[in-house]
Amino acid sequence: QAQTQGRSQYLFYSPEINARLQERLTLESQLYGALERNEMQVYYQPLINLHTQKVTAVEALVRWKHPTLGLVSPAKFIPIVEANGLITAIGEWVLRTACTQCRAWQLAGLPAIRVSVNLSARQFEQPNLVEVVSQILQETGLPPSYLELEVTESFLMADIQHSVKILNQLRELGIWLALDDFGTGYCSLNYLTRFPVNMLKIDRSFVQDITSNPDSAAVIDAIIALANSLQLKITAEGVETAEQMHYLKRRGCEEGQGFYFSRPVPADIAVEMLENSYQLSKQLR
Ligand code: C2E
Ligand code: MG
Ligand code: MG
Ligand code: MG
Repeated sequence: QAQTQGRSQYLFYSPEINARLQERLTLESQLYGALERNEMQVYYQPLINLHTQKVTAVEALVRWKHPTLGLVSPAKFIPIVEANGLITAIGEWVLRTACTQCRAWQLAGLPAIRVSVNLSARQFEQPNLVEVVSQILQETGLPPSYLELEVTESFLMADIQHSVKILNQLRELGIWLALDDFGTGYCSLNYLTRFPVNMLKIDRSFVQDITSNPDSAAVIDAIIALANSLQLKITAEGVETAEQMHYLKRRGCEEGQGFYFSRPVPADIAVEMLENSYQLSKQLR
């Protein structure tokens, strides 16, 4: 026992871990009230149809405009707000902002696109999730078929029966569901057929070395074949090069998303992309 204690004390006082803990605690204290201080911002990243090269959707990605640190990545702060529960309010705000934005683009006469919003595990556990989504759709006037929610295998697997029930209720609202980061979780194919999702998003770790690693290419081919046979739409995340784009297109992948097309950008820049969907397609050749 003494040994265990000694070890954990060593870990606790290791300067590196201590610094990381300090940083996390500081960020956490600053995250309280960040929403109210208007420090949260939604960026949008286009999803491109690989065959027509047109923007078909945008994914809403939250950013934290920290007063001194600048833009803080969600990879850094989502885990914190997920742990302390702030994610519920932030997630709802992102959803409302994204739906409002998408509706505004429609009313301005821009080409119709979907908006897709990430759900966290905590939000998915909220007993009133379906009502919240339904209420935001009503409030913003966005037709449900323009909203897509992204869920991940790992949190669906936590309680499969509950997940199936909630996913079905969400589908009944008329919205779309995507399985994000597909291939990184541990969703068995058996469950995949039980989750009423419309689309798979291939995780970017597979796309990354698609042209250099035959294993990744094989995984991508298999996921595309699977999606086709289950009649699911498919998007490849993290497309960074023309080679990756061409490979995916040849293999019959429908949509792509990644820095090759565009980074996530603020709404006023995203709107230019929608207006210039055609120009974008010329640039990409
Ligand atoms: P995600 O949902 O898988 O979103 C895609 C992430 O990949 C985004 O990171 C995006 O900027 C990044 N990405 C897109 N294309 C490329 C590429 O070509 N190369 C590389 N290296 N990266 C690319 P981001 O915006 O930092 O978000 C990270 C994660 O944080 C998201 O992963 C999502 O899980 C989570 N997240 C972001 N916004 C929200 C939100 O509003 N709610 C919740 N619950 N989670 C969010
Ligand atoms: Mg996502
Ligand atoms: Mg995600
Ligand atoms: Mg993803």
